[in-house]
Amino acid sequence: DDAKAQFTKRNPNSLRLHEEAVNNLPGGNTRTLLYTTPFPLSMKSGKGHQVTDEDDHTYTDFVGELTAGLYGHSNPNILSSLTNTISTIGLNLGATTAAESRFASLMRSRFNLGRVRFCNSGTEANLHALAGARKYTGKRKVVVFSGGYHGAVLSFGSGQPAENNVDLDDWVLGRYNDVAGAKELIEGLEGQLAAVLVEGMQGAGGCIIGTKEFLAQCQESAHKIGALFMLDEVMTSRLAPGGLQSLLSLTPDLTTFGKYLGGGLAFGAFGGSTEVMSVYDPRQPGSLAHSGTFNNNTLAMHAGYAGLHDVYKPEVCEEFSKNGDAFREKLNKACEGTNCCFSGKGTIMAVHFSADGEMKESDVTCVEVIKEDWELKDLFWLEMMEEGYWISRRGTIAMILGTPQEELDRFVAAVESFLERHRNLV
Ligand code: PLP
Repeated sequence: DDAKAQFTKRNPNSLRLHEEAVNNLPGGNTRTLLYTTPFPLSMKSGKGHQVTDEDDHTYTDFVGELTAGLYGHSNPNILSSLTNTISTIGLNLGATTAAESRFASLMRSRFNLGRVRFCNSGTEANLHALAGARKYTGKRKVVVFSGGYHGAVLSFGSGQPAENNVDLDDWVLGRYNDVAGAKELIEGLEGQLAAVLVEGMQGAGGCIIGTKEFLAQCQESAHKIGALFMLDEVMTSRLAPGGLQSLLSLTPDLTTFGKYLGGGLAFGAFGGSTEVMSVYDPRQPGSLAHSGTFNNNTLAMHAGYAGLHDVYKPEVCEEFSKNGDAFREKLNKACEGTNCCFSGKGTIMAVHFSADGEMKESDVTCVEVIKEDWELKDLFWLEMMEEGYWISRRGTIAMILGTPQEELDRFVAAVESFLERHRNLV
């Protein structure tokens, strides 16, 4: 309560803006994830790896727009691509353009795809890819895993699909990282299953790494019964030059993308083998329509290409991921012997505070085993803001390229003193 009172005192402008916003938006909000109590912080600008709120506090941005903000707020390549596009090309041309084929070609070579299509969000990418899988197989059911998040209307908490999910009757939920369970569940659905849809690391679920055995089993069992194996790389494609699938030696029939790949603009894409993607080939009789006014909007096609081609080159991606792993290791060292740990991979991680006593990174295997102490997590979130770190309330950290090492080291020290200060709670 003290920390919340302090937050209210520090942020009068955010409070005033929230009181105005509730008259315009339900709860003053248009992205549920960003709603927080006592009220959400309102940001007014971003520069490089930092954001500044309406009360003029500047933070190191660890939200990183939930991985979409990889390039930061003012990357020169992205900015010049955007300004050139606006001034010399135009916004949306109502026609096919060379830019979309150029970007698709780059994505094909980076992520081992036969063909690719663009859309406007990760949610859309999954919806279209699922429609494709259903068309290709002629089946309807889809296996997903609790804790999985595949978009706003494709969300699976602990044990059941969220109430706003599309196609409620067609989901079959398994437990993440349960190898034998996945085999039994998938193979038991022979004749009914269109696809297995899974994240290589559950991002929104709490940065839970999928084991190689579990993911390989999902792929093998799907193939055994003629279903497609779909990997959601909306968050994870940044973790290796060829995406997480390359590190795990997976060969998905369909892969979905989004986030940073649009250079910071609204973006989604899905791709896969030429044969499966041909369900979207308008030259084929009876093919699926995949429409979307902004699917090939010039800004995302150019900024996305500039980002992947000129900034996030394979060697940059490898170095960045190594830094992320080293950062997480230092954080976990600071947490030893407490109920706090950081799980994740490379530059994407999440903090956990267990309500069940001591917890290590290796304990984070599926949502069913994590009992978060939300009060402690909120205290951490509020106190880290005072230290100058902007973290998502649920505890996800998505690093931004070019964040100075001193800021990472200062965060490790801030975590250490938090745990020391609240030794009676952790
Ligand atoms: N899939 C995964 C794994 C995600 O993490 C997200 C978003 O967080 C999505 C899909 C949905 O993407 P979007 O928010 O662009 O619709």
